[in-house]
Amino acid sequence: MPLDNSTPVVLAEACRILAHAGLAEDILGHVSVRTERGLAVRCRGPLESGLLFTRPEDIHEVAPGVELEPGYDPPNELPIHTEAMRARPDVRAVVHVHAPHVIAADLAGIELRPVVGAYNIPVMRMAVGRIPIYPRSALINTNELGREVATALGPAPALVLRGHGIVTVGHTLEEAVIRALNVEILARMLVLASAKGKVEYEVSAEDIAAMPDLGSAFNDTFVWRYQRSRLEHAGLAVR
Ligand SMILES: [Zn+2]
Repeated sequence: MPLDNSTPVVLAEACRILAHAGLAEDILGHVSVRTERGLAVRCRGPLESGLLFTRPEDIHEVAPGVELEPGYDPPNELPIHTEAMRARPDVRAVVHVHAPHVIAADLAGIELRPVVGAYNIPVMRMAVGRIPIYPRSALINTNELGREVATALGPAPALVLRGHGIVTVGHTLEEAVIRALNVEILARMLVLASAKGKVEYEVSAEDIAAMPDLGSAFNDTFVWRYQRSRLEHAGLAVR
């Protein structure tokens, strides 16, 4: 069964949202969703012009026995996606981007701890659960390296790749993309605050326990709509 009409559009939108939010500087980074046979992923084609300008035509299914359209190549780091999905049956979507503040925070030895609460509850919860780190900076272009990354990710929603970027996963594409945006927001806050001295603060256990779960409509759907509106406003909507 070929890809439905909506998958390439929402994946292209995901790439543009991430780039527009500053998580992908130029042509590097990719997003995928699981399909019945394999996955649909952002590929590189003859008109490659960066994540911010991803078109639905750049999205292709990569699966056993499926031939890619001539002129298009899957990302070099496809094993990040295939091995995360193999290791995690719960994962429907994978994001890999080179989020600059996450990289900077990690290089500066700043741990992504729960230093914000109601400012961004979903990322507070991710930080409470600890965001693991893959300590190598290699290009993840073999299945073996992909398995290493999947092992480092474990059951977590996000993984920092030292000197490289992040991987986030989700039960939905929205969830994986917004997790990436939120990890970058937390890292940016910590980098900003750490410029004035080491951040010792951590949200109290009492406040963490009292924080409500506002639900996926609030955390994901509304934020996605906001991000899509930002694209439209900037004249960057997927057509
Ligand atoms: Zn990469």
